[in-house]
Amino acid sequence: MVSVRLDHVGKRFDAALALADVNLDIAAGELFFLLGPSGCGKSTLLRLIAGLIDPTEGRIFFGDRDVTHLPTQRRNAVMCFQNYALWPHMTVRQNVAFGLDVRAMTPSERESRLKDSLKLVHLENLAERKPAALSGGQQQRVALARALAVRPDCLLLDEPLSNLDANLRTEMRGEIRSICKSAELTTIYVTHDQTEALSVADRIAILRDGRVVQTGKPAELYDRPINGFVADFLGQTNLVPGAVVDRNGAAALVQTLMGLLTASASGNPPESVILSIRPRRIRFAGADSPQNPAVNRVPGKILEASFLGEATEYLVLAGRQKIKVIHAGAVSGSQAVLEWDVADTILLTE
Ligand code: ATP
Repeated sequence: MVSVRLDHVGKRFDAALALADVNLDIAAGELFFLLGPSGCGKSTLLRLIAGLIDPTEGRIFFGDRDVTHLPTQRRNAVMCFQNYALWPHMTVRQNVAFGLDVRAMTPSERESRLKDSLKLVHLENLAERKPAALSGGQQQRVALARALAVRPDCLLLDEPLSNLDANLRTEMRGEIRSICKSAELTTIYVTHDQTEALSVADRIAILRDGRVVQTGKPAELYDRPINGFVADFLGQTNLVPGAVVDRNGAAALVQTLMGLLTASASGNPPESVILSIRPRRIRFAGADSPQNPAVNRVPGKILEASFLGEATEYLVLAGRQKIKVIHAGAVSGSQAVLEWDVADTILLTE
């Protein structure tokens, strides 16, 4: 495993700017996600790290080694593509061995690599099958085994689960994580699926329009987004505009369409702000709940309720602000009192 560093990396395709001033430090053995909407530059960044294309600006390091202009085969980074690119006429074993054929190694070393990689992805028993006789998840695992067999320093995954159905995606998420961790690989994983990133990543970089907007651990990004884009992209949130009317230590008093709310604030926020309040962090309070300065409380009227399976999503009109609440359990009547912690009232400046 190797650390990967991108230093002021930029990429232009003719006149179009695909990436601008990307700086990332990925630790050895880290499972690092590149997350963002379609066209934000995720795949371009992965291709640059793989050495499939050259940056227009900046440098790329594997450990202390400057690999910016090194060809792919001299980087020891392996890329797994969305469509797996398996040979249909070859068995699982032959597909996995394929990448090893061009490398000088003894037959016993080759056999042991093959065995180890098939074991790592739990395909020892299917080694003689052809890809057409495998499920989507099994094909995905063959592609992973083929990449792992060359013992790369760095594994690059481009939307590896996009061809699988919802159940299999969830199952394979955990499996990819455990495979990467037991193979002690530095893995860079591209996706536009925030649930996949939040549930699997050690850290995530969020990209927008070719730039890194924020980097951090899943919980940091979820609970402390730096702006409305990150807050909204990482799962549902209520973005409530407001005006700061007072400061009190680490708290700001914000006038909104649903009344005066307290938000946790650091630094010196401008007057005009946006509050991010996650629907799952809002509770339905009892009418006789005691006052608590660490909690925001507003009365509201339930306009709609949509059953989601394990919970229900309510649309509530609080003052003149519509707000979403996700709550496991039924609520009786249409009048409600909503409450949520000040710590879950995140003040954003853009
Ligand atoms: P998606 O999730 O849809 O795959 P992405 O985030 O991976 O998107 P990229 O494929 O990296 O985005 O593309 C980033 C930008 O660069 C896009 O505007 C795209 O049109 C442009 N781009 C990518 N490859 C090329 C190319 N070979 N020539 C010209 N423009 C390109």
